[in-house]
Amino acid sequence: MLHVAEAMGRLGTETAFDVLARAAALEREGRDIINLGIGQPDFKTPGHVVEAAVDALKAGHHGYTPANGILPLRQAVASDLEARRGVPVDPDTVVVVPGGKVTMFFAILVFGEPGAEILYPDPGFPIYHSAVAFSGAKPVPVPLLEENGFAFSADDVLSRMTPATRLVIVNTPANPTGGVTPKEELDKLAEGLTAFPNAAIMADEIYSRMLYDGRTHASILHYPALKDRAIMLDGWSKTYAMTGWRLGYAVWPKSLVEGATRLCINCHSCVNAATQFAGIAALEGPQDAVDAMMETFAERRRVIVDALNSLPGFRCIEPGGAFYAFPNIEGTGLTAAQAQDLFLDKAGVATVAGTSFGGYGEGYLRFSYANSTENIERAVERIADVLRG
Ligand code: PLP
Repeated sequence: MLHVAEAMGRLGTETAFDVLARAAALEREGRDIINLGIGQPDFKTPGHVVEAAVDALKAGHHGYTPANGILPLRQAVASDLEARRGVPVDPDTVVVVPGGKVTMFFAILVFGEPGAEILYPDPGFPIYHSAVAFSGAKPVPVPLLEENGFAFSADDVLSRMTPATRLVIVNTPANPTGGVTPKEELDKLAEGLTAFPNAAIMADEIYSRMLYDGRTHASILHYPALKDRAIMLDGWSKTYAMTGWRLGYAVWPKSLVEGATRLCINCHSCVNAATQFAGIAALEGPQDAVDAMMETFAERRRVIVDALNSLPGFRCIEPGGAFYAFPNIEGTGLTAAQAQDLFLDKAGVATVAGTSFGGYGEGYLRFSYANSTENIERAVERIADVLRG
């Protein structure tokens, strides 16, 4: 009998991957499945980005790089942040990692241990809860509410903080809800955190370029008072349709850069070299592919929200960002898990139960609109047929 570490029992997963596997199995049986469960853009990585990686390999960039990323990439990140967020960033505080998830895991390992408390959004990206529990810290959910547009409320966050709070995780625009938290709320949170000088904050800003209706992004980098304790997570996966390349970064407080880099050395050594060159090309090259992708997502958002609101028992608010709709389905009389299973089995439509993102996701279903307008319309028609019985 193998004796695995007790912490393994606390490590969760991302059930979107389970849904993906079930959808793939049904497809192998010959079923026509429309996948609205997946959290990755259905676009190609821009051609010049792919070329940059190929060129880098041909030029012999196939060895280890510095663990925190090559300097030209960290400089490109700093320049991009300066241009986009309007704040100076020291390239030496940028740590490049294999995907946004790695920053999240490392930040939680840096602060999580028995006795510590870590706040995270619920419904939220499932890895927050999983990694916090794995670290031994107490996961403290902060509910995100439909009536609040799924934005987080600074008061809700602050009211859950205690002297044991080591880390506060926030995410805007958010997965799974598409909720966008307005700047005023972040202002209020930043102000409130002055009463908790020992708590760090990790802002997951991976959807920062995915905003609709002229909304602007409220970044944690805008608060100089938090500079010594804010970790800003971002990456290339969503913006540049690069989920499989595994490339992300964070801006860390100066005092934590060395620790984060040591975690890289212990875990993965460095991101593969060619991908880092692709990352430079993405940031410094033309951005028209990003703009075109967002125009397409904006159109699909309109289509899916209208279609979902036409379904009996569904109520869907307009997501302000990302590429997810998160309708309330309580009126169908189904639980989130029942709806997910019914729509996959009977309608051939893959979605993800809101409860995959935390207890406060009960009564909701996540629809990713990283699929064609035609498929979105077909999917909703099929669900309508199933609901009509
Ligand atoms: N953060 C959020 C909120 C996400 O939704 C995701 C991916 O779905 C990630 C981070 C992870 O991104 P990556 O694929 O770069 O690890």
